[in-house]
Amino acid sequence: MNTLTLDEARALDAGDPLRGFRDRFQLPEGVIYLDGNSLGALPKATPGRITEVVAQQWGGDLISSWNRHGWMNMPQKIGGLIAPLIGAKPNEVLATDSTSVNLYKLIAAALSLQHPRKVVLSEPGNFPTDLYVASGAVGMSADATLKTVPGDEIIDAIDEDVALVLLTHVHYKSGRMHDMAAITQAAHAKGALVLWDLSHSAGAVKVDLNGCDADLAVGCGYKYLNGGPGAPAFLYVAERLQERLQSPLTGWMGHAAPFEFGDDYAPAPGINRFLCGTPPILGLAALEVGLELFGEVDFKAITVKSQTLTTLFIDLIEARCGEHGFELVTPRDAAARGSHVSLAHREAYPICQALIERGVVGDFRAPDILRCGFTPLYTSYEDVWRAVDILSEIMETRAWDTDAYRARSAVT
Ligand SMILES: *Cc1c(COP(=O)(O)O)cnc(C)c1O
Repeated sequence: MNTLTLDEARALDAGDPLRGFRDRFQLPEGVIYLDGNSLGALPKATPGRITEVVAQQWGGDLISSWNRHGWMNMPQKIGGLIAPLIGAKPNEVLATDSTSVNLYKLIAAALSLQHPRKVVLSEPGNFPTDLYVASGAVGMSADATLKTVPGDEIIDAIDEDVALVLLTHVHYKSGRMHDMAAITQAAHAKGALVLWDLSHSAGAVKVDLNGCDADLAVGCGYKYLNGGPGAPAFLYVAERLQERLQSPLTGWMGHAAPFEFGDDYAPAPGINRFLCGTPPILGLAALEVGLELFGEVDFKAITVKSQTLTTLFIDLIEARCGEHGFELVTPRDAAARGSHVSLAHREAYPICQALIERGVVGDFRAPDILRCGFTPLYTSYEDVWRAVDILSEIMETRAWDTDAYRARSAVT
């Protein structure tokens, strides 16, 4: 495949069972968007849906919309749309809060359930918010600690002190995918729980939480799920744990009877206790549109395309940019990675800027990573071919080597 021509890439697109989905997204002319793993593209149906919710529901039906348009149940309803993408039952998932807040709720709940165990075990280089929130959560409990060991040493490090193992399933930088079943099983054998962050997995790779007997999970709504900037996130709690866990953020939406307005907190039965405040309806409405698209897809086709796109990219980079100092950071085994590929390069920052100026939007992750995300619903094989073609030209002409491309802005 590594000498694939543009015509051959186009032939792959012609045979792609997902090819019809690209046209369901608004993608600017001339842009090759390889950043859907950071901010998913806009579904064409989203603006109309938001307008309807704002103008007709909010504008017309006002407060009656909480009942009339089912606003109150949107976290559960949209959780139910996420459930099949992650191998969960509908009553195990809520669309709510941010990933960071959901991490806090589930880490604190797990620590409390697992008392007197006191260690949260994670890996160095996990996504920053995961480590920061874990450190904040252990700080609230007198003798709890956060311990990190390299990803491939996690299983050996699980002992009787570990309350919770906290891992990101597909690593945000390297793209490496953990073996969810093996780690979950090893943790259970030692009496520990596992919390999986699915931010770079949900909507891109097959996840089977129930099949792995997973305990807890969180994930992001604005990456592969295309819910829009700052979209509500999701959380998963296995049915068998729901009644035993208590959210530390005991807001009224997680109360057994919020509209009785009593003074004392009583947790709702089931997953609802992990709600906190009033659901953000406009954000949920946008996320719902992103998820409805997945309802039309055979998920197997997504996994296959993710693996084929990333393999094609790696092969083409090696064939056409092999001499330019890139180092592949992502696992070569397609089954051991997610849907993005990271290349380390000393000049990754200006190279990334030069790519963006030529319409190839990937992103830079400090200190030296050029990261390209491949979104099965709207990335084409031709996109991959053209992106590598443009990158090889930038490298051959050293077009990246300017002061303008080295200047950094706040969000990289
Ligand atoms: C994107 C991402 C987050 C985002 O958290 P927010 O609360 O939405 O800012 C968290 N964890 C991981 C692993 C991510 O990739």
